[in-house]
Amino acid sequence: MDSSMEKIKFRTKIISSHLNQTNPITIFPSFLESSPCLSYTPPELTEPPFSFDIKSMRDLMDAHHIQERDWLFNLMMQSNLFNPKIKGGKVFLSPDFNQSMEQQREMTMKRVEYLLDHGVFKGWMTEKGHQAELRKLALLDAIGIFDHSLAIKIGVHFFLWGGAIQFFGTKRHHDKWLKNTEDYVIKGCFAMTELGHGSNVRGIETVTTYDSNTGEFIINTPCESAQKYWIGGAANHATHTIVFSQLIINGKNQGVHAFITQIRDENGNVSPNVRIADCGHKIGLNGVDNGRIWFDNVRIPRENLLNSVADVSPNGDYLSSIKDPDQRYHFLSMYVPLHASVFLFNMRFGAFMAPLTSGRVTIALSAIYQSKIGLSIAVRYALARRAFSMTQDGPEVLLLDYPSHQRRLLPLLAKTYAMGFAANYLKTLYVQRTPELIKTIHVVSSAFKAILTWHNMRTLQECREACGGQGLKTENRVGHLKGEYDVQLTFEGDNNVLMQQVSKALLGEYVSAKKRNKPFKGLGLDHMNQPCPVIPSQLTSSTLRSTNFQSDIFCLRERELLNRFAGEVSQRQSAGGSKEYAFVESYQLAEDLGRAFADRAIFETFTKAEASVPSGSVKDILSLLRSLYALVTIEEDVAFLRYGFLSTVQAAAIRNEVAMLCTELRPHALHLVSSFGIPDAFLGPIAFNWVEANSLSSSTC
Ligand SMILES: Cc1cc2nc3c(=O)[nH]c(=O)nc-3n(C[C@H](O)[C@H](O)[C@H](O)COP(=O)(O)OP(=O)(O)OC[C@H]3O[C@@H](n4cnc5c(N)ncnc54)[C@H](O)[C@@H]3O)c2cc1C
Repeated sequence: MDSSMEKIKFRTKIISSHLNQTNPITIFPSFLESSPCLSYTPPELTEPPFSFDIKSMRDLMDAHHIQERDWLFNLMMQSNLFNPKIKGGKVFLSPDFNQSMEQQREMTMKRVEYLLDHGVFKGWMTEKGHQAELRKLALLDAIGIFDHSLAIKIGVHFFLWGGAIQFFGTKRHHDKWLKNTEDYVIKGCFAMTELGHGSNVRGIETVTTYDSNTGEFIINTPCESAQKYWIGGAANHATHTIVFSQLIINGKNQGVHAFITQIRDENGNVSPNVRIADCGHKIGLNGVDNGRIWFDNVRIPRENLLNSVADVSPNGDYLSSIKDPDQRYHFLSMYVPLHASVFLFNMRFGAFMAPLTSGRVTIALSAIYQSKIGLSIAVRYALARRAFSMTQDGPEVLLLDYPSHQRRLLPLLAKTYAMGFAANYLKTLYVQRTPELIKTIHVVSSAFKAILTWHNMRTLQECREACGGQGLKTENRVGHLKGEYDVQLTFEGDNNVLMQQVSKALLGEYVSAKKRNKPFKGLGLDHMNQPCPVIPSQLTSSTLRSTNFQSDIFCLRERELLNRFAGEVSQRQSAGGSKEYAFVESYQLAEDLGRAFADRAIFETFTKAEASVPSGSVKDILSLLRSLYALVTIEEDVAFLRYGFLSTVQAAAIRNEVAMLCTELRPHALHLVSSFGIPDAFLGPIAFNWVEANSLSSSTC
């Protein structure tokens, strides 16, 4: 009898047992006992020994405050509030997503209080200096590894509400609000978006006027499209908000300004003349209470205008503190790109966008940590899960031993390393910010936020599929994270809009350099001053893996696209189109250019990180990862072929090299994900003993 016949008989026996059974529980144990079962072998026992020091690699990746991160992981592990569950003999922490939206929100708030009580937020609003900022960012990373809702709830309060007070406010606001924010005496939110206007903040319709008789501002929602929308914290908990509104003084619109407004008392009662409604259930992030707000001529004291760049005197005169044209230029250059000719440009507007930069920095960082979680789970599973055998009765093959599976996961791993370095660079840039750096921070944070969050969504999707059906179980995290993190593509700057701003800023640099006949300086465009790189027609393996070749081809693509983009925009203008129209029509080149800028900038952060490491095994692995990052990025962007930067023969050589690099990195896969330093408890059961985690004796689903 052939084996397929045996299988059919076996299945028939099982099915008839099912149909005939009176008590299913009594049948299962005997069946389970008599049949051999697949057993789980931890990859640590089967994979080659560590080829490099994973602690050194983690130090490089996490970069700072590693002890504090581990302290916070432990703090979360010590409390039942973080919903520990035992599966397959291990403890896993994850919010209980079976809870209703309201329950999830209350649990998020309780977790905030627990972290507050244990001193996690100490100094977040009151300590100054790089180290204090880096500590805050490190702890937020660790919180986000547990749950996005918790990180966002905290992020809105500290980075958006608190950041707005720090950046837009002056001493009177700092003295009154920062300590109370740090101690959660008040709970803040940030009301910028409206139903009718999101990306286009300059078009918001909320209106504020000034009453010099009482010394009060009057905030009003004049129509339904002006209702504040998506405001994190507004639906349940926030007591105060920053309201963004047009400021009308003596009948003249002075543009968008920010005001502090109370929306609830300390007992949670909504303030007079304020109406609040819920945004409802979302595809993720249901532990955050996003709400809508209407203001019915709400009166607030004059001092509640955040007045770092503009003020209104008691008798109602409008005063702007941005007088210096150079200073104006810095603020202006932050936000020039998008709407410059669509709306009357407001010099002060750019300054108002400063706190959003911190949001983009934290989003870029957290996107990479989620990719690390997804890859840790998918790679560990691929090192313990087998499917099909190559020979008749041979053992089934480990998923990660299939070259196709390596090709799916390992390039994403290399990209995650590259983008991890990029996120660290962005963080350093942000922490060390000076007025001269504002433009660079704006452009780099826009590009990295978009590229890193897109990468994260793609990585999570691939990891979800790589785990097969198990990837769909919420407890295994990887699939669920897609819904939780999708919003990162939209909030604090929609990715597509941000990328437009990047290419528009590059165009601005180009026009300015050409007009002044001066070399390019800043934004990494200095390579434009050098002769055009020449790419060898024969691409050998060693050429493809050389930093010089990789750098040359990224620079070549960026310079050529910038030249073409500037040429196309100028041509459209010569044909009679406005500058804005010419830009909008040239969107295809703009998209290619934005990506070219980001890829080149990310690549440079990788080479810098690699250069900082002494010769040895860590550096050797980084060199493989860097090559895989560079080559797979080139392979995936059709622009290299479209514009003729590569021939089809060269493209084929790159493809072969990508496959070779995947084979070479395969033995290091476990060590590369272990270096991410994410505690086991924050991964899912599927990453460990998935057989035992799913045994009949293992409790609930
Ligand atoms: C869960 C969640 C939480 C949020 N929290 C807050 C908060 O706490 N406070 C707050 O103020 N806001 C918050 N937001 C709002 C968020 O910042 C906005 O959703 C975001 O800015 C996008 O605005 P929009 O939704 O109106 O989309 P739109 O601006 O209408 O964009 C819709 C689409 O149009 C495209 N588009 C827009 N302009 C252009 C253009 N010029 N050219 C080409 N395409 C364009 C965009 O790429 C996008 O695909 C939150 C949103 C969500 C979903």
